[in-house]
Amino acid sequence: MQRDYYEVLAVSRTAGEEEIKRAYRKLAMQYHPDRNPGNAEAEQKFKEAAEAYDVLRDPEKRARYDRFGHAGVQGGGAGGFGSAEDIFAHFSDIFGDFFGFSSASRGPRAMAGADLRYNLSISFKQAAKGDEITLSLPKRVACKDCNGSGAARDSKVETCRHCNGSGQIRRSQGFFQIAMPCNACQGTGQIITRPCPRCKGEGIVAEVRELVVRVPAGVDTGTRLRVRGEGEPGVHGGPPGDLYVVLTVEPDRRFQREGQNLLCTQEITFVQAALGHRAEVPGLDGSLSLEIPRGVQSGAILRLSGEGLPFPGRNQRGDLLVEIKVLTPTRLSEKQIELLREFEKAGEEKPMEKVKRAAKKIKKAMGMD
Ligand SMILES: [Zn+2]
Ligand SMILES: [Zn+2]
Repeated sequence: MQRDYYEVLAVSRTAGEEEIKRAYRKLAMQYHPDRNPGNAEAEQKFKEAAEAYDVLRDPEKRARYDRFGHAGVQGGGAGGFGSAEDIFAHFSDIFGDFFGFSSASRGPRAMAGADLRYNLSISFKQAAKGDEITLSLPKRVACKDCNGSGAARDSKVETCRHCNGSGQIRRSQGFFQIAMPCNACQGTGQIITRPCPRCKGEGIVAEVRELVVRVPAGVDTGTRLRVRGEGEPGVHGGPPGDLYVVLTVEPDRRFQREGQNLLCTQEITFVQAALGHRAEVPGLDGSLSLEIPRGVQSGAILRLSGEGLPFPGRNQRGDLLVEIKVLTPTRLSEKQIELLREFEKAGEEKPMEKVKRAAKKIKKAMGMD
């Protein structure tokens, strides 16, 4: 339900132009977003007052509103103020003398600070386990010696005589007066007689600031970690930018990485391949026992479920894939060669031949031949 515009501005229905303007100014000052940061109710009231003022300041709209109420001014420019910025733009004439500067010289708009990128190289172990890493960030901060004023401690900051402290020089150009920033004081309105030795009068110094970044377990090369509000400071009261930490993960000797799966190679002898074997393979949390089945072939891949890298932010892990490499012996002793020959001979004998031979022997023994 929309409130009555006269009620919003707390004026009578017969209030004059000046009275309405005064009433609106009072409310706009009270509910100004700069004075009520983060206060949604104040913002609502600020917009409501702007809407009421937009109608009542205009004799034609006001007449329609008086006759038909809200329906008479719908879509006529009233309402629909999206943001405080819209309101400032719409009523620049009134806000001009409100805040002590004319709309033409309101100065640059508030701008968010730039985002920063920080390239960080971490070890495989840090990526696998997660870590807290302290970054040393060069940052521009207000000089502590002069509190950002740029003036030496025992010196005075004097009002600029060229612009009488306004920071602006007014010039006539035809019918108009235009305001230009004062050159003598760079638009600050003040002259520093002796600059602060620490910041050389800049008011700002470069400082190395330490910032702790939490790296979640399972990150990979190219992962971007966003640290809110740690970018460049905002300009003219705008919010600061964000810091993006871009990771490079160093490779590991033991594992190859495929997403959250890890791959490693396990070498076994051909005897172990033939007979089966229990091997120790490297894992993220120490060595793991791997059961290699009898008759495994070189190139076979065995899977250890849940022994890979964690998925960041999830209670789940990839797998460890073990590729089997069967080694063929290159140097054999006489004894080994002999045994292998025997082994091969044993392999040539077909089971049926063995049975037939055995059967023959039995028949002969029983005199049935
Ligand atoms: Zn000046
Ligand atoms: Zn300083």
